[in-house]
Amino acid sequence: GGDEVSKAQTAQPSAQPTIFSKIIDKTIPADILYEDDQCLAFSDVSPEAPVHFLVIPKKPLTGLLGHLLLVAKKVADQKKLEKGYRIVINNGPDGAQSVYHLHLHIMGGRQMTWPPG
Ligand code: ADP
Repeated sequence: GGDEVSKAQTAQPSAQPTIFSKIIDKTIPADILYEDDQCLAFSDVSPEAPVHFLVIPKKPLTGLLGHLLLVAKKVADQKKLEKGYRIVINNGPDGAQSVYHLHLHIMGGRQMTWPPG
């Protein structure tokens, strides 16, 4: 929503740990749906669809995108999104990114519209 857009205008990449580092460390709680040595899938705290989860790498490694996409499909299947789903990466201020740790949004359970806002 508009709130996320205003957050995205001021969010910056930095060396500081993000909220997602704390989810990886388990210093803050999350609804973890899948975990392996390379990545973590968890429910978005502020869902924009009946099913909305994130898949993030534990480390910002290159070459991991394929693995993240396979995990996105695996968890989407677990969530019974057989009618389809959307995968989104928000990048930079104009893309409405607010957490500077690579993450895929996987959203389903309703008809998505195009173009996104
Ligand atoms: P935006 O915030 O505009 O969606 P991003 O693409 O950077 O930008 O997405 C960050 C996502 O992380 C948001 O959907 C937000 O709801 C989610 N999020 C933030 N903090 C937590 C948390 N503690 N647990 C789960 N999801 C979170």
